Amino acid sequence: MAERPADAQLRRTKIVATAGPATDNLEVLTDMMRAGVDVVRINASHGTVEDRRRHLGLVRAAAQRTDRCIGVLLDLGGPKIRIECFRAGPVQLADGQVFTLDTNLDAKAGTNAVVGVAYKDLPKDVAAGDTLLLNDGQIILDVERVGATTIETRVRAGGELSDRKGLNRQGGGISAPAISERDREDIRFAAAEGVDYLAVSFARDAADMQQARSLMRAAGGEARIVAKIERHEAVDNLHSIIDASDVVMVARGDLGVEMGYAELTGLQKTIIHETRTRNRVVITATQMMESMIQSPVPTRAEVSDVANAVMDGTDAVMLSAETAAGRHPVKAVQAMAQVIEGAEKYQLTHPRSRQRMVEGEFRSTEEAIAMAVMYTANHMKVRAIVALTETGATPLWMSRIRSDIPVYAFTSHEATRRRVTLFRGVYPVIFDVTGAGDTAESLYRALFTRLLELKLVDRRDLVILTKGEASGVQGGTNSMQILKVALD
Ligand code: PGA
Ligand code: MN
Repeated sequence: MAERPADAQLRRTKIVATAGPATDNLEVLTDMMRAGVDVVRINASHGTVEDRRRHLGLVRAAAQRTDRCIGVLLDLGGPKIRIECFRAGPVQLADGQVFTLDTNLDAKAGTNAVVGVAYKDLPKDVAAGDTLLLNDGQIILDVERVGATTIETRVRAGGELSDRKGLNRQGGGISAPAISERDREDIRFAAAEGVDYLAVSFARDAADMQQARSLMRAAGGEARIVAKIERHEAVDNLHSIIDASDVVMVARGDLGVEMGYAELTGLQKTIIHETRTRNRVVITATQMMESMIQSPVPTRAEVSDVANAVMDGTDAVMLSAETAAGRHPVKAVQAMAQVIEGAEKYQLTHPRSRQRMVEGEFRSTEEAIAMAVMYTANHMKVRAIVALTETGATPLWMSRIRSDIPVYAFTSHEATRRRVTLFRGVYPVIFDVTGAGDTAESLYRALFTRLLELKLVDRRDLVILTKGEASGVQGGTNSMQILKVALD
């Protein structure tokens, strides 16, 4: 099987699509992958471990059918505080009425005067004068009095409220630990199933990220760790969280509620920039094509939002309910892919020579080689960069530099191929270096054959190759070669 890099020449920014009821079907997932999905997010906020297992099985089956290499991201539920349920369906809250949250109330006994909350410590984290937000900020409550188990509020902005809606405190400060008991079970599941990325919801600081990583390693998993920036505390600790993570997600849903939505655009640009300069990968998420949950076409504002994230330099853009629970999951992916291609076309009109190079000292041979490659590639007519890689570290460094030249991660490791699906401008290719013979000539012949059969280059194109002295050894990339594609 070839595992073709899809649309390699066309699209550099990757697409993450969330699985859910609307994708619980092999045909739909297959069509989504054909439309350009690179990574599937399985959201552990909903359903059971059995549901996740079924979704994962379908993702793997669809990837095989489409001959695509697809990464999988498991998103932990985390300590999302939710209200409990109402006795008789959704209720209406009127502006100015009193509404009480009660941690002692039966989970199914909510009315339009009071509702239960499962998080017992909430009264300790909240004080009179605070603002609480329900349902992503749709409903605003001003806290008036706090008792041992009750929080009495006055409704500032009312509306319809239904079961299990999320609750945030404006300005952050909810002290629930980032990794719950349920999350631990999901981490064991992710490790056992060889999931590629693990996302930590509501991470507060670097310690939360380190804890997730050690739990993952202790369970025997190699998944890379994703920090979802969606709390006030995470913004305060941005640099240390990025350094403790492999990937960062701009989780605009909860972030917009905690910080106020007017902060979002500036925060998005800052987080993307800081993450890329620190050699980490960044995903921009939430409501990117929100109207496509219902509508077959995006709004112009959504088109612009996706395009701007691409122009900001994000590695990936994400679809949430648009694919998980929307009416047009395949069309949403198609629209996103089109918008990305459109945005990248304009970006490529920037002259190469004016592109930024990193400042400061290089800390490793791999980084130095990767930077030399990108500098050369951006100033020469190079068709492709080929990195013989074990872990994907060198392609990661390369993809931190803006360029329009594709980086092909040639590796025999399936986990590495799935990992690089998230990196902007990097495409996985199956290649077994140990089967390529002992001489440089036999290696070049094997590489050129592979590139030509996948139609990634033409004869006489220039390519840049990076590799280690001893191929098949981790972390050994120490050379760069400029080669002309030829088969004699
Ligand atoms: P969620 O996270 O979809 O799991 O809530 C993303 C966000 O908050 O934006
Ligand atoms: Mn969230």
